[in-house]
Amino acid sequence: MVVKFELDSHPNTQANRLRSPQRSRVSPTEIGQMQPNYRRCIACRQVARKETFWRVVRVYSSHQVQLDRGMGRSAYLCRNAECLKIAQKKNRLGRSLKAAIPEEIYQILKQRLPSE
Ligand SMILES: [Zn+2]
Repeated sequence: MVVKFELDSHPNTQANRLRSPQRSRVSPTEIGQMQPNYRRCIACRQVARKETFWRVVRVYSSHQVQLDRGMGRSAYLCRNAECLKIAQKKNRLGRSLKAAIPEEIYQILKQRLPSE
């Protein structure tokens, strides 16, 4: 496949659309709906400014999965327990990044959750 991964990957829905033969041509307006600094949560699919999400990155060079920084394929997740749970249980992060997510990543994110 000749598709190049962008630094900030498209959400799954868009990627699937691009892959589907009937929808191989995406109109400019369709792409334009996503504003530049907005991202979609991989768990609940809510769109919000990227600063509001946790960012999980599969680093381009090493294929290591890490949080917050680094260049590579990224997934975004709401900073709440519900979305974290979905991301882990349904392996949304792993599927989005096409990589195995180390348990440690979930542990760190759990620690970041505001305590009740
Ligand atoms: Zn979410």
